Amino acid sequence: MTAPLVCRLCGGTAPLRFEKTVLGRHRVGYHHCEVCGLTQTGEPHWLAEAYREAIHPTDTGLLARNIHLRAVTAVFLHLSGVRDEPCLDYAGGWGVFTRLMRDAGFQFHWQEPHAQNLFAPGFEWRDDLGCPAACTAFEVLEHFVRPLEEFQRIAAFGADYLVTSTEVPPTSPPSPDWWYLAPETGQHVAFYERRTLARLGRACGYPHAIIGSFHQVFAKRPFPAWRWHAALRFGRLLFPLVRRRRRSLTLADSERLRRAGNA
Ligand SMILES: [Zn+2]
Repeated sequence: MTAPLVCRLCGGTAPLRFEKTVLGRHRVGYHHCEVCGLTQTGEPHWLAEAYREAIHPTDTGLLARNIHLRAVTAVFLHLSGVRDEPCLDYAGGWGVFTRLMRDAGFQFHWQEPHAQNLFAPGFEWRDDLGCPAACTAFEVLEHFVRPLEEFQRIAAFGADYLVTSTEVPPTSPPSPDWWYLAPETGQHVAFYERRTLARLGRACGYPHAIIGSFHQVFAKRPFPAWRWHAALRFGRLLFPLVRRRRRSLTLADSERLRRAGNA
């Protein structure tokens, strides 16, 4: 347990920094890679147990977070010229974000291996949709056991923009008391510094990134940073303006599903 780990992102040496009790019963080491800055748990053998419920009951911020992220994402994508192109919410949970974005007039689709699509059934991602204009992955990266391979899987969709959220540790390495370790859920196994996220982006074809302490955007090509900063800072104020300029899909989707015989 005390031996250094081989970093699951870069293969560097990741010495043990501290231990926590995960899911109330597994003693687990947290290792910090000296090369890329990734903090990672020991090989997570408890994940089947951790994902019995994909969305943990302690996640009381789920709706508030989705509403906030919708404003930020909608403003950024609208300013970036995204109109009717398909978009993807990767690992989209119950489909809350997909539904909210469709309500705001964005052609979002859902994809998720661990949860049921409760809010956006009928709008699952399909390969025949082509490349998404944007791919969102909120609260996803910290679940990655093999961050490089799993980030590459997102990059493989070929979106122009990847919009992500994951909490960057306030210290390097993080303190054993940092709340985002969330050992009670057993689902958070990877924690990224800014340099770690930049490295992931570069390695996967997204070298142009703006990496904040909770929100991140990655792009294949250079883009004006003000669009992202405006969305992040003034998303809540600007969102109603964006919404007014777009046709909501709320009713059109209902009609489409009725025609398809799903309701
Ligand atoms: Zn590493």
